[in-house]
Amino acid sequence: MPLGALFPRVLIAHAPTPLEPLERLSRRLSGPDIWIKRDDCTGLAGGGNKARKLEFLIAAALADEADTLITAGAIQSNHARQTAAAAARFNLRCQLVLTDSVPGTPPHYRESGNILLDQILGAEIKLAGGDADSAHAMQDLAQALRCQGRRPFVIPVGGSNALGAFGYVQAFAELHAQAVERSLAVDHIVLATGSGGTQAGLLLGAHLHGWRGSIHGISVGASAQRQRLKVADVMRAAADLLTIETGDAEIRIDDRFVGAGYGQPAEDTIEAIRLTAESEGILLDPVYSGKAMAGLIASIRAGTFRRGEVVVFLHTGGSAALSAYSQHFTSGKETTWSARPTP
Ligand SMILES: *Cc1c(COP(=O)(O)O)cnc(C)c1O
Repeated sequence: MPLGALFPRVLIAHAPTPLEPLERLSRRLSGPDIWIKRDDCTGLAGGGNKARKLEFLIAAALADEADTLITAGAIQSNHARQTAAAAARFNLRCQLVLTDSVPGTPPHYRESGNILLDQILGAEIKLAGGDADSAHAMQDLAQALRCQGRRPFVIPVGGSNALGAFGYVQAFAELHAQAVERSLAVDHIVLATGSGGTQAGLLLGAHLHGWRGSIHGISVGASAQRQRLKVADVMRAAADLLTIETGDAEIRIDDRFVGAGYGQPAEDTIEAIRLTAESEGILLDPVYSGKAMAGLIASIRAGTFRRGEVVVFLHTGGSAALSAYSQHFTSGKETTWSARPTP
């Protein structure tokens, strides 16, 4: 039975998102056939994986007769931006707790990219220090609103709870149908994993379909051990809501591409972004999908993913943050052209 029939869902994401071959990138890496699932094209003010999670989260907020969404994230949070957009779309107010948690960021990090879009989308921004406990901050904000007679609805960081994960149970079904339609036997799915809901939902979807391939989460911040716990927690919560058993689904996490930490692209992150842009015309991002692609590339070079196999790279979005990270990309290779003045 479709999940939307069991749990209320509003339609937000432009879906099905395209599933496309990355022919030039596959050739350049001379490994497996790489396909891309374009969840950067879900719409909702720039696309990304949070649009699918918000379909279930917003439905729950509306059922609760909420008038305000509260969520949290880093200053360049894509989740915050898509939540702000969803709030606007459903006539809700939006309060964002944005933590200044990434060390060493330049001033334009606080003014461009996602935080700029949050402001355009009409969200109320509460900036907090890097060490702030955002879960508590959200509860305090909610309490203050309740005292004013308002009805807040708190969405956890990354939208990663059981309901949010349902968005990716749904997405797995969508991807599975697309693969069947193309007679494509997918061996591996590779994605960035942060708050864990996306990987948890995919794992649950794979379990429900009896799919035998493997799902590789490339951690964007946490150690493999911690990240595995995050994914397991969300997966268990979602399985409980569906009253199903997940058995001993293997949660694969690779934490070798984190670099200095969350929100800090490493050298191979930047290389992966450039290679994908130059060979496919597709924009990845410096916080999530760039690290995931660095992981995919390294695994191909190491022979983990082999010729003849099919790998689907889940593009979870994030390119809205690129301008906030411009210092990593301005090459200095521009040349000036002494053009004639207009006559
Ligand atoms: C949030 C996010 C992720 C990670 O998804 P989780 O469900 O939090 O693990 C990956 N990519 C992008 C672009 C994101 O914004």
